[in-house]
Amino acid sequence: MIQLTSRAALQLRGLPDPLPPVTVAAIRATGLVPSDTHELVRNVVASPLSGLDGVGRCDVRPLVADLDDAVCADPRLSGLGGRFLFVVDDGRGDVSGMTADLAFLATGPDRGVVLAGGSGHGWDVSLDEAVDLIVRLAREFVDRAGGDESVWHVDDLADPLGPERTAVAARSPAPPHPLGAVGEHAMVGVPLGLLRPHHVDALARTTDAVRVTPWRSLVVERGAALLAELEAAGFATHVGSPWHRLHACTGLPGCSRSTLDTRALARELAPVLPAGRLPVHVSGCERRCGTPATAYVDLLAPPSLEAALTTIHATPEPR
Ligand code: SF4
Repeated sequence: MIQLTSRAALQLRGLPDPLPPVTVAAIRATGLVPSDTHELVRNVVASPLSGLDGVGRCDVRPLVADLDDAVCADPRLSGLGGRFLFVVDDGRGDVSGMTADLAFLATGPDRGVVLAGGSGHGWDVSLDEAVDLIVRLAREFVDRAGGDESVWHVDDLADPLGPERTAVAARSPAPPHPLGAVGEHAMVGVPLGLLRPHHVDALARTTDAVRVTPWRSLVVERGAALLAELEAAGFATHVGSPWHRLHACTGLPGCSRSTLDTRALARELAPVLPAGRLPVHVSGCERRCGTPATAYVDLLAPPSLEAALTTIHATPEPR
């Protein structure tokens, strides 16, 4: 299984330590790990449909590639820490609400605002200037954090980062995430955020380019014509799919705090999930990891499928 994370990364869990050389070679062969020293810090989340659907104010793909290259090329930036997050929004507002340390929000076809931390104030720059400024700010952060274990994020610094801020970013509400066809492309949900071999096989038959979103879904380039095949492989391709709103924490066997295999229960539940609009979340204990920020049906360690269904029926839906 390959796990999709809320930072649009891919995680392989439960591997032996140390990793067998054949596994290391296979992962390197994907080209997804360009830098051993910077792998933990090249956390860049960008508008996943940028350049594909004409909705954003600009195509941020070149900026993202340049930013990744520039971060990996600077030895000092390996000290950013794994929690540091870069966000690049093409102006549609789909990722601008994420808690970023350094962000670029496009305001036009060749301009945007660079933000540091959550203040909403930053610097108006051209597209060509953005990477230089972001990297300079990242270097300043590393210098000022100085290995202080309590400083993980820009907002943890005692004083604001960078020169005097001259621009304000107007954030618009995040648009709903599409599911299904987006022009000739497709956005598909990945049940429980876990890619399994049959999913990967179906993707390989469908496309040669996939983008990972921070919402446990994938953009399948030129995938619209093959949505039926993707649905047959188990992807959520429309909002009526149970996997559009059914989630579970890690549960057993991955989390020892759990009293049940939460994902197995969710898979039992999927074919019989009653119609509704609220997200449904199965948790293995009262920590309720990964619950949505909105209202949801709270399935806290249900002892059986029947108990889970009873709770769903008893939870009022919003009008
Ligand atoms: S909610 Fe509890 S059981 Fe589930 S992953 Fe979190 S700690 Fe583990």
